Amino acid sequence: MSVNIAANLKLINDKIRDAEKRAGRPEGSVKLMAVSKFHPSEDVLSAIEAGQFLFGENRVQEAFEKFPPIIEAHPDTELHMIGVLQSNKVKNAVKVGSCIESVDRLSLLDEIEKQCAKIDKKIKVLFEFHTGEESKSGFESQEELEEALTAIKDGKYPHVIPSGFMTMAPFTEDKNRVRKSFVMLRELAQRMKEKYPDFEMNELSMGMSGDFEIAIEEGSTLVRVGTAIFGERDYSK
Ligand SMILES: *Cc1c(COP(=O)(O)O)cnc(C)c1O
Repeated sequence: MSVNIAANLKLINDKIRDAEKRAGRPEGSVKLMAVSKFHPSEDVLSAIEAGQFLFGENRVQEAFEKFPPIIEAHPDTELHMIGVLQSNKVKNAVKVGSCIESVDRLSLLDEIEKQCAKIDKKIKVLFEFHTGEESKSGFESQEELEEALTAIKDGKYPHVIPSGFMTMAPFTEDKNRVRKSFVMLRELAQRMKEKYPDFEMNELSMGMSGDFEIAIEEGSTLVRVGTAIFGERDYSK
């Protein structure tokens, strides 16, 4: 089935602007990331043609094959890595990405620092926090997260720029549980910003195709939308 990517982007952008308005938030306070995993380069290029420049991928190998030529041809393009990241994939992840949204353990920072130092690149990171029962990824406790933030504050990771937080809500029809997960991330972010005022951790990456409007009501600054832009993913590929 063919998908009209430009029309979908317009629709989602309109819904984002409406949700901002309903929530009493300034227009443009929420950014849209187009999650292009499992979709080919041509789809990414269609999105770029329609004015979309921020993308997300969750598999390093796929991103590393797809994005360097696209970024070379369209230097305004930005890619965030949003999936569970194994340490042996960090090298390519920091080469192709401008932000790692899925930092879920202290040891990952060691590897990010090491690989970024090698190529003399500073990289933004978001701390993924576990807020929903079904999803498995993310820091499990505030203590672990504080350990990471304190280590950055102490100068252990000079190439790492802590920029905010990310979560995935549980996959459920129960909107209250989805909302609770977003509220939990917002409140955590607030506590961390008070405790670590030197860092500008203003990014709240939350909301996907099925729940981005709730996420915007609860303070999201960045929604990660795949299916509603590019159509269903074909996992058999
Ligand atoms: C795939 C993915 C998305 C996009 O999901 P859709 O439901 O297709 O919008 C968002 N965030 C993460 C972390 C993902 O892996």
